[in-house]
Amino acid sequence: MMTNNTPEMMNISLLNKPFDMEMKEVKVPQIGATDVLVKVMAVGVCGSDVHYYEHGRVGEFVVEKPLILGHECSGIVADVGSDVTNFKVGDRVAIEPGVPCGECEYCKSGKYNLCPDVEFLATPPIDGAFSQYISHPEGFLFHIPDTLSYEEATLNEPFSVGVQACKRANVQPGSTVVIMGMGPVGLMAVVAAKAFGATKIIVSDLEKIRLDEALKLGATHAINIKEEDVATRINEITKGKGVNYAFETAGNPIALQNALAALNNGGTLAIVGLPQQENIELNIPFIANHEINIVGIFRYANTYDMGLEMLASTSADLNTMFTDAYDLSEAKDAMEQARTNKSGSLKVMVYPNGKPE
Ligand SMILES: [Zn+2]
Ligand SMILES: [Zn+2]
Repeated sequence: MMTNNTPEMMNISLLNKPFDMEMKEVKVPQIGATDVLVKVMAVGVCGSDVHYYEHGRVGEFVVEKPLILGHECSGIVADVGSDVTNFKVGDRVAIEPGVPCGECEYCKSGKYNLCPDVEFLATPPIDGAFSQYISHPEGFLFHIPDTLSYEEATLNEPFSVGVQACKRANVQPGSTVVIMGMGPVGLMAVVAAKAFGATKIIVSDLEKIRLDEALKLGATHAINIKEEDVATRINEITKGKGVNYAFETAGNPIALQNALAALNNGGTLAIVGLPQQENIELNIPFIANHEINIVGIFRYANTYDMGLEMLASTSADLNTMFTDAYDLSEAKDAMEQARTNKSGSLKVMVYPNGKPE
């Protein structure tokens, strides 16, 4: 049963091929018994969206037919399937973009981010959220706490990667963390490390705007790699002791080597960013002799609920992240802004149902 104010047709923004985006009118999706129809209110542009826009592929995922981008999204429930129990029309929801099979050994063991059959929004051939409405299974929707806006709720996606890194690295209260790369994932990892109790959070990047934002979000020390030597600065800040945890979020080989070298005995390196090349030289005797742990981070599992609670309780002003706003018809401009304005933009938002006010 469609509610009275749900239209029959809607607008979507399609990526036809690199740099070629087009708005199109299509039918509003039908929902199954356990699905929810969500009117999409805000979508954050992610690095992977920009990569599809620019190159038509991310690793093995290739845009072979027109694709709807956008996976960091939130909205309002417009309709519910007959078996949906947890949501009603009008509820504000955050959308967890990856829907796994629920049956395989990874799903059953709780590591559903590793499910080989996961369907992830805006990952070919699965369409994303640059769309006025999307149908999504009830089990991967989460109520947005009252104090969070739709925009803030979309941050739960990159934030979840930071939470996953903290969980996998087992970040302890009172610890020191260095986070290299202050793109949105790195910035959200600052908020996550703080929520996990890290008391010293050192960050590095080459863009001043990102380092300033990191300090606003809870970082205690910022290193501009254009002006300062990372190793020397970390040594000074930690009085020669090194850090307990090092996250590399930018996929930069030098940063990865620096992250490893910054660790103290028993420290943990979390690899979040994906480098262009597959093989990078790492100091193996250092890893063995200092009992370094290395964890890979692939998306996240079971972080959405706790992530929203953490975002609702953080003292950081998340609104400082939102630098740019676009309507759906301007999706190409949004992608261009995210692609080219790295020293001026943090999070670029697209509003499929119109920019606020
Ligand atoms: Zn993302
Ligand atoms: Zn599975």
